[in-house]
Parts: sequence; structure tokens; C-alpha cells
Amino acid sequence: MVKAIRVHQPGGPEALVMEDVELPAPAVDEVQIRQRAIGVNYIDIYRRTGAYPADYPFIPGHEGAGDVIAVGKNVKSFKVGERVAYVGALGGYAQARNIAAHSVIHLPKAFSYEQGAVMMLKGLTAQYLLRKTFKVKKGHRVLVHAGAGGVGQILCQWANGLGARVIATVGSPDKAKIAEAAGARHTILYREENFVERVRELTKGKLCDVVYDGVGRATFPESLDCLKPFGMFVSFGSASGPIEAFDIGLLALKGSLYATRPSLFTHIARRRDYEEMMDDLLHAAKQGFVSLGEPARFPLADAAKAHAALESRATSGSMVLIP
Ligand code: NDP
Repeated sequence: MVKAIRVHQPGGPEALVMEDVELPAPAVDEVQIRQRAIGVNYIDIYRRTGAYPADYPFIPGHEGAGDVIAVGKNVKSFKVGERVAYVGALGGYAQARNIAAHSVIHLPKAFSYEQGAVMMLKGLTAQYLLRKTFKVKKGHRVLVHAGAGGVGQILCQWANGLGARVIATVGSPDKAKIAEAAGARHTILYREENFVERVRELTKGKLCDVVYDGVGRATFPESLDCLKPFGMFVSFGSASGPIEAFDIGLLALKGSLYATRPSLFTHIARRRDYEEMMDDLLHAAKQGFVSLGEPARFPLADAAKAHAALESRATSGSMVLIP
């Protein structure tokens, strides 16, 4: 038996219930991990509320780090005792878990368990957004919504490291300082200021090459007005609620724009891609473009408090649960 947080029906943070759960031996292609740190992500909230589907009851959580304590009989690449991290299937909010070996990597010595538990889902998301979805280059003007958030800070750091001029929207003056420290050249308090007007002023009317938007409903369609002709709108999340259906002709009217709605899970479906992305992320960390900092910590039993803090916009940066 292990302690785990389960969700039996969609709901608020109170739907996260700590229980004793049976942990079977790992299946033939699985690794069993004693977890040391578990990443908390906005996707865990979409799962808990039912915005993203799941079979009930389920254990939330897609990201973590710890030690291998058992391996399935087909697993050759991991041994008991090794430090590992993963991003993959649900089941993260638990003292120990089984997970497909193809979702697991060896955790480099330079990274703590906590850093490992937050760099996988958020770091790899920033990797594909900046390096694949739209290839950010020196001189690009980049708008990052919620720039003090978990993914947002990594986007600001890395885009700045790539030579882009980063403009970040943020929910408070404290968050503005955080986004600036992460690499945003300008910040916009989008709860008070009209962010489209501010982007026009800051870019002297030239507007942005790309908008990275994990906020969703509250920033759409205004985000499109921040883009120059042929610019790229990247909708990668919906912290304020999903964007409603819109007429694709809007993209023509706003300047022959491109728009996309990518997911990390498509990008890491093939092991080779996953490893290449990981290498690129670790390289960026070594170059100092990405610094994972110290995540906010909550005991596993307080997962509900962590969720309440994240969805009330009280947090900045990354968060972990400690089992
Ligand atoms: P964050 O730490 O960024 O937290 C969400 C932030 O969104 C808040 O802190 C807040 O920042 C902002 N926000 C704006 N409006 C609201 C609202 N109404 N309610 C709550 N928050 C709001 O979370 P994560 O780093 O975990 O995730 C960021 C985004 O990235 C999410 O949308 C997530 O779904 C997405 N994501 C997408 C992936 C993909 O592959 N597509 C993978 C990983 C994450 P502020 O106060 O500054 O406004």
C-alpha cells in the first residue's frame, strides 16, 4: 500500500483525497519509482475539474522524480537505485508509482529531485514552444502571457537567452519583478492595462512575431491584435477557461496570421524526440538560459492547498509536492 491522492469525481480542490492505494509490481515495460518530488501543473487542475477527461477514480499528476525501486522484466535501461525523472501518464500524486520506462529519463547529477520534478513537463513544453512550434531567433519580438508562471518564467528566460525581446503580461507588480528577473524586457499588468495598446507602444507599432498564450479565454481574441502580419499565435493552455469557437476568417482579417494549439504529449510520443528535446533543455540549462530555481513545496497531503493557490493566481514559478 502507498499513500496517494485520488479524485473520485470532478470538483474543487476538496476533490483531492489522500488514501491508501494498492501498488502492484511493475508491468513488463514499467519502472517503479519511490518518488521524492512531484510536479504540480495546471493540467492537474483541468483533470480535477473534469475540463480534461479521466477515468474515475484516478491519481492526478504527470511529472515527478525519485529512485527506481523495481523494474519490469523487459526493462533494460534502468536499474534499482538509479535517480530518475519522468513526464507521462497520470498517477503522479503518490509516494510511489509505476510508469512506462519510455517516459523515464536518468536524472543528471547536477539536478536535485525537486528540479527534476519541475523541469520535465514545464521545461519540455518551453523547449518545443520556442524551438519547434515557432523557432525563436535573435531580434524576434515575443509576447509571453502569464510570464511569472511556471512555464511562463522558463519561456521568458529561454527566449531572452535566444536573443529575443520579451514582453510579458503579469497579474501583479510583484509578478512583474519576477518576470523581469526571468528575462522579460517589458512587463504589462494586464489586469489593469490594455495589453494590446501597451504592446503597440512598446514595439512602436511593429507588434510581435509570436504570442505564447497559456491563459486562453481572458486574452482572446486580443492576443491576435498583438501580432504583426504573418505572425504566429500559439495557444498552449487555458488557465482562465477555454477559447470559444471562432471563425477562422479572423486570422485573415488580422493580417494572414498563423494559429496553433499544440500539446507536449504529441511532441514526446516518440522516444527519440523526447530524448532530443531533453538534451536541448539540459544544454539550455548548462548555458544558463534556463534556471529552474527553487520550487514552492507542499506536503503531498496538502495537494488541495497547492491547487487552491495555483488556481487563485497566488503562485509564481513552479510547485512540488513532497511525499
Ligand atoms: P502557471 O504557473 O502559469 O499558473 C497559471 C497562471 O495563469 C496564473 O498564475 C496567472 O498568472 C495566469 N492566469 C490568468 N488568468 C487566470 C485565471 N482566470 N485563473 C488562473 N490563472 C490565471 O501554470 P503552469 O505553468 O502550470 O501552466 C501554464 C499554462 O501552460 C497553463 O495554461 C497550462 O495548461 C499550459 N501548459 C500547456 C502544455 C501544453 O503542452 N500545451 C504543457 C504544460 C502547460 P497572472 O497572475 O500573472 O495572470
